[in-house]
Amino acid sequence: MSLKDIRHWVFDMDGTLTVAVHDFAAIREALEIPPDDDILTHLAALPAAEAAAKHAWLLEHERDLAMGSQAAAGAVELVRELAARGCQLGILTRNARELAHVTLEAIGLADCFAAPYVLGRDEAPPKPHPGGLLKLAQAWEVAPGEMVMVGDYRFDLDCGRAAGARTILVNLPDNPWPELTDWHAADCRALQALLGNP
Ligand SMILES: [Mg+2]
Repeated sequence: MSLKDIRHWVFDMDGTLTVAVHDFAAIREALEIPPDDDILTHLAALPAAEAAAKHAWLLEHERDLAMGSQAAAGAVELVRELAARGCQLGILTRNARELAHVTLEAIGLADCFAAPYVLGRDEAPPKPHPGGLLKLAQAWEVAPGEMVMVGDYRFDLDCGRAAGARTILVNLPDNPWPELTDWHAADCRALQALLGNP
């Protein structure tokens, strides 16, 4: 299948459509999470009251980041072109859905993503779990193999593979995970060039 034949596109948000700004080491330090632990997995295992307090801190911290979001190179042009071609567009993020909306507003793409197709950490199990992609496949009534997951990190690729979707890695000059990647582009501008003419 060639890239231009894919009609169902799911994007990671932070670091894919935006310039990455999360300082995960600082977040772990503030929340007393060991350096090698996954943040969401760690929080999920805490007693309820402590987990709630730390989730609240994380949400506030991420809200500030979301309001100052900047679009990644070529991201706005790529998404607008896919929308103009009539593609279905979704977001699958480990961030919170309300912050995904704040972020999409900040970079000028809010009108390209219908609210039900923006899945945050409360709407789907966090990547690399494939649940979010499978949920979108069901909503769009397509086989996962008809979809592509676009991301900047291994979790995005693992999630795509586990769901049976195609995968695209962007925003890394070299690809550390070729076995998990169907297409690699240096950034969204290069990815748009790979799309070719409609
Ligand atoms: Mg990312």
